Parts: sequence; structure tokens; C-alpha cells
Amino acid sequence: MSTTLIPFSGGLDSTYLLYIRLQQGLDIQLSYVELVNNVTKSEIEQRHRDALLGKMREATVTELGIVKVELPYSGLLNLVQPTVWLLGLVSQITTSHIPDFVELGYTSGDCALGYLDEIKTLWNSYQGFCNTPLPELRFPLIKEGKEDYFYKLPESIRELIWSCEAPSILENTEDYVIYKECGCECTPCKRSKYLGIFQERRFEYNKLNKSLTVIKDEKEWQKVKENNLTLSWNKYEVKS
Ligand SMILES: [Zn+2]
Repeated sequence: MSTTLIPFSGGLDSTYLLYIRLQQGLDIQLSYVELVNNVTKSEIEQRHRDALLGKMREATVTELGIVKVELPYSGLLNLVQPTVWLLGLVSQITTSHIPDFVELGYTSGDCALGYLDEIKTLWNSYQGFCNTPLPELRFPLIKEGKEDYFYKLPESIRELIWSCEAPSILENTEDYVIYKECGCECTPCKRSKYLGIFQERRFEYNKLNKSLTVIKDEKEWQKVKENNLTLSWNKYEVKS
């Protein structure tokens, strides 16, 4: 059985990639490379990754953990993320279990598509610093757009994906935090709206039992707030 290493953020692209590779029965390694410049976003992404993995809990995946990179300025770089991701990925691969390939979830329409040759060149350049052959770097999602992958995901997975970079925190107490996507400020939200796949949702994260609840219905939301209830409609509850 082949093993693939996927940098998994909990956004649409990497979630879809993980989903189809699980369906295909591949061995999967997951990595998260955090560019330490937006702590709120990183915390939220962690919750959504946990919830998504909880939904796909029949699956066995190996989580390689988190690589944190502090890079306060991008300097001369036009595209920061892949340069950081590739170093993070190569630093997490161990000789005891080298994946057959590494897959980045770029999709049609991503600006990174103009840099695929440079990204491959950068990846291959690490070979000179490694004693073992590096896995092949692949881009399996570039033929279709985000909206295509969005509708191929089941609703229960789709509703948990998160890519907003400027989340609005609506309430934050000792016990729980309620937040939603900005919807207009950040590039991922703008793109989702443009593509018609923006989801109107709020989330409640319970800090005590570490569960994430999707709130999709505005009336339900109002009822809960008016009655000062904590959210108890278990139909949307996801335990990590
Ligand atoms: Zn946003």
C-alpha cells in the first residue's frame, strides 16, 4: 500500500485530498506547518482539524505533528507558504517511514499554480541535504477548482472546513468561544464568496470537553441566545 504525506490545514483543498485518499485506502501521514503570524487562525485551524479527523475517525492516519516557523516578514518572497511548508515537511519525514509521495492540495485558480516549477525545484534542492531519496512531490488537485471539490465532499465534512484568516470572535468566556468567518476581509473568504461556496455558519468551541459545534441556523441561534442556553442540539455536535 502506498503512503502519502499531506500537509493538512483543515481548509477545503487539504480536507478534500485527505478525504479521497482515505476513500482509496492509502496509508496517510499528516503534517501541519504553522507560520506563526496569526495565532487566532492557528488555534481555530487546530480545532477544525481535530473535528474533521473525528468525523473521519474510522480512518487511521499518522499525525506527524506541528512545525512552527516564525517569519514576521516575507521580505522579497512573492509566495511565502510553499517555501515554509517544504522545509517543514522534509524536516518531519523520518527514515523509519518514508512516504511514497508528498501531495500539495493546490487547485485550479490558486496563484501558486504559476510557481509549480519553482516549488518542484525547491523541493528537489533539499535532496542534496538528505541521505535518503526524497519522495516525489505531487499536485493531484490542479485540474479542477475549489467549487468542484466543495460539492464532492459530504455535508458533514464540508461544514467543518475552515480557511478564514481574519475570524470574528463573537464571544469568548472561560468555558467556550463562539466565532465565525470574516466573510469579506481575507482572501479565502473573498474567494469562497466569489465562487458561491461561502458557508454562513458560526462555531461554538467548548473549552472544557473540547467539542466543536456548528451553528448553521440563525433562528436556532437567536433562540439559544434569548434563553441564555448553552448549545445543546447534539445533531451538529462533533466530539474530537
Ligand atoms: Zn475570512
